[in-house]
Amino acid sequence: MAAAVAAPATTNARSSKTESYVDNKRRDDIRQANILAARAVADAVRTSLGPKGMDKMISSATGEVIITNDGATILNKMEVLQPAAKMLVDLSRSQDAAAGDGTTTVVVLAGSLLRRSLTLLSAGIHPTVISDSLYKLSVHAVDVLHSMAIPVELSDRDSLVKSAATSLNSKVVSQYSSLLAPLAVDAVLSVVDPEHPDLVDLRDIKIVKKLGGTVDDTELIRGLVFDKKVSHAAGGPTRVESAKIAVIQFQISPPKTDIEQSIIVSDYTQMDRILREERNYILGMVKKIKATGCNVLLIQKSILRDAVTDLSLHYLAKAKILVVKDVERDEIEFITKTLNCLPIANIEHFRVEKLGHADLVEEILIGDGSKVVKITGIKDMGRTTTVLVRGSNQLMIDEAERSLHDALCVVRCLVNKKYLIAGGGAPEIEMSRQLAAWAKELIGMESYCIKEFAEALEVIPYTLAENAGLNPISIVTELRNRHAQGETNAGINVRKGQITNILEENVVQPLLVSTSAVTLAIECVRMILKIDDIVTVR
Ligand code: ADP
Ligand code: MG
Repeated sequence: MAAAVAAPATTNARSSKTESYVDNKRRDDIRQANILAARAVADAVRTSLGPKGMDKMISSATGEVIITNDGATILNKMEVLQPAAKMLVDLSRSQDAAAGDGTTTVVVLAGSLLRRSLTLLSAGIHPTVISDSLYKLSVHAVDVLHSMAIPVELSDRDSLVKSAATSLNSKVVSQYSSLLAPLAVDAVLSVVDPEHPDLVDLRDIKIVKKLGGTVDDTELIRGLVFDKKVSHAAGGPTRVESAKIAVIQFQISPPKTDIEQSIIVSDYTQMDRILREERNYILGMVKKIKATGCNVLLIQKSILRDAVTDLSLHYLAKAKILVVKDVERDEIEFITKTLNCLPIANIEHFRVEKLGHADLVEEILIGDGSKVVKITGIKDMGRTTTVLVRGSNQLMIDEAERSLHDALCVVRCLVNKKYLIAGGGAPEIEMSRQLAAWAKELIGMESYCIKEFAEALEVIPYTLAENAGLNPISIVTELRNRHAQGETNAGINVRKGQITNILEENVVQPLLVSTSAVTLAIECVRMILKIDDIVTVR
């Protein structure tokens, strides 16, 4: 085999000896530089893996500080310039899109596979052979994962909660997992459409963040929440029962012309006329609105002119209409879906059939004197839900939101693909064991490569143990033994610091997270291996 590989090299060398030598060296150097840069990125997040992983504090040039444990967030915020290293950042982002969780795992796996690739390259194996072996490995690895999977029903709420809790375990907000995990499950299940039981659109779950209280005060709200006050300059209502709600995209204020202009008024009668016109204009609008029975107005934010003026608020208050202004443009879709109503773009189109109905709209005081507007008891409510996240400081709230996103994604994965798998390093060690056994049946270079990569998968249990302060070598060795004896669900119990049946510890994760981590990591490594030159274009 070695002779066969060496043969083309000698013919090459004969034709142009020095050139080929220099050329190959350059390619090797570039490949090596790429691998080293990518591995540096993987090493940066390695310590964050697992329930006992460390958190990172990211401070940006603008002075913004973030504390997080989420691989995708850490890498996203890092300013990586080397193109191969950027691929690892993208890798974590793709895992985030595909599965939502396992963003650290995928990068750590890729780092370990790259490290082994370097060993194989330096042993003189051609990158194409390595890359092809990796492809075969990924197909086989997914099969192994499938064979370990446990089917789960959506009615089995307990299992869903357990897997959401596993993803929250490793977060800064892990102490609140008993609250957030069931909340995530309820939120996702409430937006599943019976007509498409496999699909969840996370845009149907809105997370509203409000400073104050603790994460414990986070709640799920069947309805809408606005993180703002009611606009009631002139003593308008702040609570409306059996509300008829209009979402409007026009303003209740005097119109402005497109061009900058000024009118000079020279006498009082003319001024009176202008004011009267303005009053009539606004009064006309308010009357039209009132005529439909509407008693709650949600007004879209406008940059052209004020959504309401003091005068219009005065008339609206007289008509007992509750006003919430400055609703963001991109929230309109969610709001109309929830309220089951239509947005109204012009006063001429203000009709009763476009209104939404709810039992109660009220401004409530929460925590430290701040107010939110809540709409509850919505009639024919669309399949959406709102989560009001609370926290004592902005860092905590932001991290709670990111962690909740992971938990929501985990439940979404289970809705997409209804299989669970054990966590705690069990799937990785089982893959490693079965792939190593398979490698023995193969011949040639492939066998050698696959054996090497099978070992690379052990990085996950190794790192989990390392981050938990255990002795990684003895833990991984014991884990390997237990799996060899047929205990496929033996994993690292980080709380007890020993190997136990990890299913009994309730550490489970969606199959989709593991399969997508393995396939995406392998895809990325193959791509990096195939690059042999960097061409910069300006
Ligand atoms: P990621 O960003 O990749 O999701 P995490 O920091 O969430 O990274 O760690 C996930 C890993 O931690 C998974 O391999 C999972 O099996 C493992 N894990 C989570 N909770 C536990 C636990 N209680 N005991 C052991 N392993 C756990
Ligand atoms: Mg996780």
